[in-house]
Amino acid sequence: MDVFKFGGASVADAQGIRNVTSILERMKGRPVMVVVSAMGKTTNALETVVEAYYAGRREQALDIFRKLFDRHVDVLREITADGSIQAEAHLDEFRTEVEWLLHDRPVRSFDYYYDQIVCVGELMSTVIMTAALQGAGRKVHWVDVRDIIRTDDQFRSARIDLTFTAGQVDRIIKHAFTSSDIVLTQGFIGSTDENESTTLGREGSDYTAAVFAALLGAAALTIWKDVPGVMNADPRTTDNPVFIPALSYDEAVEMTFYGAQVIHPKTLYPLRKHAIPLYVRSFLQPEVPGTVIGPKKIDGLPPVIIRKSGQVLLDMITTDRQFLRDETLVRLLELVKHHQLTVNLIQTHALSVSLCVDERRDHLEAFCQEAAAFLDIEVHRGLSLLTIRHPRPESTGDLTEGRRMLLQIRAGDVAQYVLED
Ligand code: ADP
Ligand code: ASP
Ligand code: MG
Repeated sequence: MDVFKFGGASVADAQGIRNVTSILERMKGRPVMVVVSAMGKTTNALETVVEAYYAGRREQALDIFRKLFDRHVDVLREITADGSIQAEAHLDEFRTEVEWLLHDRPVRSFDYYYDQIVCVGELMSTVIMTAALQGAGRKVHWVDVRDIIRTDDQFRSARIDLTFTAGQVDRIIKHAFTSSDIVLTQGFIGSTDENESTTLGREGSDYTAAVFAALLGAAALTIWKDVPGVMNADPRTTDNPVFIPALSYDEAVEMTFYGAQVIHPKTLYPLRKHAIPLYVRSFLQPEVPGTVIGPKKIDGLPPVIIRKSGQVLLDMITTDRQFLRDETLVRLLELVKHHQLTVNLIQTHALSVSLCVDERRDHLEAFCQEAAAFLDIEVHRGLSLLTIRHPRPESTGDLTEGRRMLLQIRAGDVAQYVLED
């Protein structure tokens, strides 16, 4: 069995959906679990629906949602020549659910409504994808992943209950394969034990696919992207990026942690545990083998360049100008944990410590207020973190040139710079 994941870019329109159908055509005769994201930029659009609704602009929320929904119906009609009545009725169920919700005033948290509304993007795209495959004569079983992926109720960043989920995979998914070649479901979403929808964090579909690959003992997971595979830098912002044919799990984990957006950072852990290879391939050039990520260490990699924007540097010095003792550091890290800051880099000196963290305005303000009890803090905003793995002297200068550098670390085969944007 294989697991395939198709992201938003691959199913952005009718042509994309036809292309995915033809990629799956190559898998005829072999079972494949297919995980699909919302079409194109649907998740962003649904976010604006939630924002409008929560701010009390109900008509605007309904209007944006209605347009988005109509676009989905148009795509469905385009790919199923006569329009699939069954699929259209299925889409309509989701429309009704969202419209009902939007008609009431919000009484719960923003994050709760976010998940109830945003999950519809994946539900709609998978109904359309299923209709396309059925139209092409494939035996497909559509699954509502909220019946399978059980999570806690931390809305917008829910964590999966793997034990319960494993049981559902055995009962429902494995059973579905007894009568279908393709089992097709949504990435990114799940459900609590009270049947409330949840989401796993933006771009989380890669992670869903990895969880399925692990629980099904898949031969491999393939994530189909709009790039030929993993490159040494983001092709959107780099001229002449170098294609990397093979990577180790460790290398890929480091890359994704520091911000390489090609794979969601949580994807690799479930795969590594079961030694399942991850292929990153192009849905635009499906004949090209792409990048394989696995247990083997790969030598001779080119410099790998990763940029993470939205960074904040906290320069902190002990208020009493005493040495930075272990107790002070422990107290600091407890505050970091309590305020849920994501630390990307840490540097200590005799009296001072610097943290480079992701921007989260509310959390940071609360953190600084408490830390001010024992540290003097300087906050620098609007920064990015540049990480260069396997740097070569000639590769560094151009990347940092002309930008104020606030911090620089060189450790082993990795160089990191905190730069002004
Ligand atoms: P999905 O369609 O699955 O959501 P994404 O758009 O999230 O896919 O990820 C693919 C994008 O990742 C590519 O379009 C590319 O611009 C970007 N990217 C960032 N870093 C890299 C890298 N090192 N190698 C390849 N692509 C990268
Ligand atoms: N549709 C979701 C997002 O855009 C999940 C994903 O694509 O992985 O974040
Ligand atoms: Mg994406």
